[in-house]
Amino acid sequence: LMQLFRPLDLLGWVYRTIRQGLVDMAEMFRLMDTDVEVEDVPGAPALLAQPPTVQFDNVVFGYEPERTILHGLSFEVAAGSRVAIVGPSGAGKSTIGRLLFRFYDPQGGRILIAGQDIARVRQDSLREQIGIVPQDSVLFNDTLGYNIAYGRDGASDEDVLQAAEDAAILPFIRKLPDGFDTEVGERGLKLSGGEKQRVAIARTLLKNPPILLFDEATSALDSRTEQDILSTMQRVSRDRTTLAIAHRLSTIADADEILVLNEGRLEEQGRHTELLQRGGLYAEMWDRQQAESGAPREAAE
Ligand code: ATP
Repeated sequence: LMQLFRPLDLLGWVYRTIRQGLVDMAEMFRLMDTDVEVEDVPGAPALLAQPPTVQFDNVVFGYEPERTILHGLSFEVAAGSRVAIVGPSGAGKSTIGRLLFRFYDPQGGRILIAGQDIARVRQDSLREQIGIVPQDSVLFNDTLGYNIAYGRDGASDEDVLQAAEDAAILPFIRKLPDGFDTEVGERGLKLSGGEKQRVAIARTLLKNPPILLFDEATSALDSRTEQDILSTMQRVSRDRTTLAIAHRLSTIADADEILVLNEGRLEEQGRHTELLQRGGLYAEMWDRQQAESGAPREAAE
């Protein structure tokens, strides 16, 4: 009988792995809007992301050979710190996230996590170590509980509850008549951008990755939602290495370090107050956003 069960067991495992993989990939592709272009080197070891440092070492990258997007980019993110990447549209911010996930390999330089070149480790092990929190997360047409629980195979109800609490979505769920069994998505309850983001955070917390990548949406949020997201982000970033790709500078003013990217080069780096004093690109962007946020609502939208 065992001989019959073993293949079934294996099949179940393969199915779960593929399902998990596909779901994650689908979300990543939607977020990153790209195709897989890289392969594992034969016999590549798993990534050991401890301590979870991230280092870009003279990275040169272009999507097309004739157009370089990142021109020898170097920076380091210390384990447990929160680093923000800001800069004008098209500067290459999201490209950094795509490279960290290894959707593409750089044409020059290296990307290291805990000192290991990410091009030389297994991709699945790399992606296990990084949690993405997109702002407009896609939810499945399923229950809230399911949407959180798929962050980790075999998560218990208590785990889901804890993740929801840590992501500051539990009070909202508790108020719903069906709680975690509430159907969401196209055919169910519609959630706001901020609520969806917190579901995504809860999911990511279940996955419990040492490295977090926040990819902030360009769309405008009301200031209350922005504040909520900011405080949730600060909380979940604690004890994790965080890279935050930001459009609204107010959400990252407290980052340990801010990298100001311009046309694929690091133009400035430092803390918020240092960068303001410098009076360069960051200060200019900050002044502009402050002026915009002070403008009448119709004008800002
Ligand atoms: P935004 O603030 O507008 O989101 P960004 O700083 O995140 O911009 P990226 O998305 O990293 O910018 O894009 C950097 C450059 O790379 C842009 O000029 C963009 O047109 C180009 N680019 C992005 N994705 C691709 C792609 N798949 N193929 C070719 N070029 C691309």
